[in-house]
Parts: sequence; C-alpha cells; structure tokens
Amino acid sequence: MMLQTLDLAPARDELRRLFGFPDFRGKQAEVVARVLNGESTLAVMPTGAGKSLTYQLPATMLDGTCVVISPLIALMHDQLRAARANGIRAATLTSADADWRETMDAFRAGELDLLYVAPERASQPAFRDLLGSAKLALFAVDEAHCVSEWGHDFRPDYRQLRPLMDAFAHVPRLALTATADAHTRTDILTQLGIPADGLIVAGFDRPNIRYAIRPRDSLPRQLERLCQEQPGPGIVYAPTRRKVEQLAEQLGKATGRPVLPYHAGLAPEVRAANQAAFVSSEDMVMVATIAFGMGIDKPDVRFVAHAGTPKSIEAYYQETGRAGRDGDPAVALMLWGAGDFAQARARVSEVEESRQQGERQRLDALAGLVETAGCRRAVLLRHFGEDPPENCGNCDNCLDPAETIDVTQLAQKLLSAVYRTGQSFGFGHLQKVLTGVADERVQAKGHDQLSVFGIVEGEEAALLQPVARALQVRGLLTQTEHGGLQLAGNVREILSGEASIGITRPPQRKKGRSRRNDS
Ligand code: ADP
Ligand code: ZN
Repeated sequence: MMLQTLDLAPARDELRRLFGFPDFRGKQAEVVARVLNGESTLAVMPTGAGKSLTYQLPATMLDGTCVVISPLIALMHDQLRAARANGIRAATLTSADADWRETMDAFRAGELDLLYVAPERASQPAFRDLLGSAKLALFAVDEAHCVSEWGHDFRPDYRQLRPLMDAFAHVPRLALTATADAHTRTDILTQLGIPADGLIVAGFDRPNIRYAIRPRDSLPRQLERLCQEQPGPGIVYAPTRRKVEQLAEQLGKATGRPVLPYHAGLAPEVRAANQAAFVSSEDMVMVATIAFGMGIDKPDVRFVAHAGTPKSIEAYYQETGRAGRDGDPAVALMLWGAGDFAQARARVSEVEESRQQGERQRLDALAGLVETAGCRRAVLLRHFGEDPPENCGNCDNCLDPAETIDVTQLAQKLLSAVYRTGQSFGFGHLQKVLTGVADERVQAKGHDQLSVFGIVEGEEAALLQPVARALQVRGLLTQTEHGGLQLAGNVREILSGEASIGITRPPQRKKGRSRRNDS
C-alpha cells in the first residue's frame, strides 16, 4: 500500500539526470520504491536486468551512505568506475586499495553515496566501528545467494552479514541475486533477516528464445543440422576441452561454416583472438567450454547448443540466455545423455554431506526439465518463482506436442534384469538378455537361464533405451565406474507398481537403419 502512496517522480527525474535512461525497466521501479520507503527487500532478477541501479539510484537520493557488500574485487572496481562515470560519489575498501584513509574520512564526513566492501570485511570489529561513525542509508548485499548453503556458491563470510546488519537495525536491507530457486530464496530471506513479503522476482522470461531438448543420439549430426538450419552466430557448449576440439573440427568440415574452439587449455592470445573473431562475426560458430560467454556482450547470437547436459537449471538458463539478446528469434538446443545424469549423480556422493541434498535436488529439477512432456518455458519460469501460462507456443513440446506413454511394466522388466544379473552389466548386455539374444557372453554367464531372458518382445524392444535413459535421469538406475547399471533411489515404488513411469514417445525410426547403431 505504501508503494502506491510513494511518488516515484523524483526518482524518475534522478534516473534521467544521472543515468540517462527514460524510465525504469521491469520491476526496478517496485524495488526502488521499497528501498526509498525503507523496506527490506530481496530482488531476484536475471543478469542484465539492471540490479545495480536499484541501490545506486536510491543511494544518491537518500541521506547517508549505501554500503554495498560484493564478493568479487574485480567486479567491485568495474562497478566503481561505472558509478563514478555517472557522477555518483563512490569508493571501495578492499585489499587492493591504497586510499583507505581518504575513503574512511569521506565516509565519516557523509561525502559518499556508495561504499563497496568485501564480505570478509564485515566480520571485523573495526569495520563495525567504522559503520557506527557514519550515517547509513542502506545495506545492499550483492550476489546474495552466497549466504545460502542451498545456493551453488556458498560463502561462509556472508553469514557474518546478519549480525553486522542487526547492529544497525534501523538501516533497510536490499539483497540482490540472479540465481535463486525457491529453497535458496527462502533461505536468503531468513539468513539476512528480510520479511517474506519483501521478495520481488522478475523478468526471467526470454520469449524470443525457442527451447528444444532432445536425447543426444547422433552427435555430431544433430549439431550439423542445427548449424545448417540456423544461420547467424552460434555457440556450442561441450563438456571437455577434447570434445571442444573434436566438435570444432567436425562441424567446420561438415557444415562449411567458420568454426573456432574456445577453452582454458588454449594459449591466452589464441583465446582472445578467437573471442574477438566471434564477437565481430556474423556467421561464426564457437565451440566452447562454459568458460566462454561470461562477460562478452554479443547481442546477435542466434543459437546456443549444449552437447552435454548443463550443471543445473540455473546454469542452463544463464548459458542459453546468451542467445538472442537483441530480441530477435533465437534457438536453444540441449542434447542430453543419460550418462551425463548418471555421472553427475555419482559425483554427488563425493561432495560434503551437508551439500548432497541440495545437489540432488538440483539434478532432480534439471531432470524434470529434460523429461517433461509439457512446456519447457513453463518449467523454467516456475523454477524461478514465476507463474507462467501452461503453454508458450515457442518450445519443442508446445510446437510439436509429444505423446506420453506409460512404460512402468517395461521399466519393471529392465530393473528386474539389472537385479537378476547382479547389478554389474551395461545396457547392451541387459538389452540382449531381455530381448533373448543368447550370445557367447550371455551364455557364459548363464543369463539365458534367467526368468527375465527374452521377456521383451516386438515394439517394446525399441523403447528399452529410452526407458533406461528415463530411469537414469530420475536416479533410479546409476552407473558403476565400469559402466554397469545398478538400482538406486526409490526403485521399490516402481517395482511394486505404486509409482508409474511415463516417457514421451520417441520419434519413429527410419526404415533400413539398424537398431544397434543408436546406442
Ligand atoms: P545486473 O546487475 O542485473 O546484471 P546491471 O545492473 O549490470 O545488471 O545492468 C545491466 C545493463 O542494463 C547496464 O548496462 C545498465 O546500464 C542497463 N540498465 C539498467 N537499468 C536500465 C534502465 N532502466 N533502462 C535502460 N538500461 C538500463
Ligand atoms: Zn512451451
């Protein structure tokens, strides 16, 4: 209610005068209004939405200094330069600064709009004393997800911010992040002492990006097709340096398009040259590890493809978000493999106990996106806390609705075969056992004598591979380091029929292609 009574006209004037922007964008106005009202807020907005402005602008209007906690010194200095260029009185207090005394004097004298500090400073008693000697307008906590163990980037120093801010309880707080799923968000609110109604989530939809997610069944052909169908600059993300090199060469040869590799193993001057070539090109394909793309601003990227499964929905969103920044149509294609999920799930058990549950939920969320027969955009936006329509009309599932089929029985057969063969054989062997192929190895192991031998017939056989994939994606089958499949998670529910499992019907096989080639 206070929102409506607050007149934002002076803020708009200041926005034009200082930043030269005609108006606020998205939910900036709402955030700025809360800040000017002295209400603590958590703003979740995607990268590029303009989060910095939501504290910089009030900082110039409010009496006192806005203390900005920011985790990266390099980032702080960028922001400092940008703020000063707009005529904002700003300074940093970091280990890289030599002008501490001047900064502290200016701060105490009320001559600073913004004071940037690193979180490790917050726990120092001397810093608390310093804050006590000046007038404070606002605490702005950048990259606020670092305060949460649910987030992907937990920093213990962030936990010291709450006691510090509590010592100045009258000063409002503004926490900012681009990546926070529901759990992380609730945690940030608690950890930083912000009321639940202070949450503002905004603007995650990228309507011009067409999302498509498919199993990776014939690399590099699937990528070649994309490169041929989709003109304009594109990025292909590959999981390893070797894969980057290999795909760059294959795509260059097969498509005749200019293709360059980018990964951390290349000499710095080669990397810089490749990046510069890409930025200025109108038709280049960059095959890269995820190291590529951060900090480059190329608005006309027409496609982003993933040759391997991304780390999380957040990572997927951020990486695909590099496509179509100019607002023109762009494509995001993910080619996933069941093995990617199996490996990622195996790695979860290697991280600290306290983080495992979070990691598992991250993978489950990603699996949900990959497995859905519904709208991809709806899954993405719901993940970020928005309330999207059921259908977007611009993703693979909306454009070409897939039929879902119940494969619970087939899944039960496969899981039984895994169990009966001792949980140490790969998919190829299990497929032979289930479809009744008594080759030498099957006979040597006596698997042709098992009750599951030959129980999968006809059309069902073609669904075995997608079912194995679905089970792996859901964490019901995991892979040993030797490639053997093992039961995991809540398989009992599937085996007992309490839970069912559905997959989208795979595209019809072309005649004349043998089944084996696909695995
Ligand atoms: P974030 O921190 O959310 O990633 P930034 O604060 O770096 O985003 O802002 C991204 C870009 O958007 C910057 O170039 C900024 O100047 C610009 N920007 C911010 N607010 C507006 C606005 N109201 N109108 C136009 N451009 C804006
Ligand atoms: Zn859709």
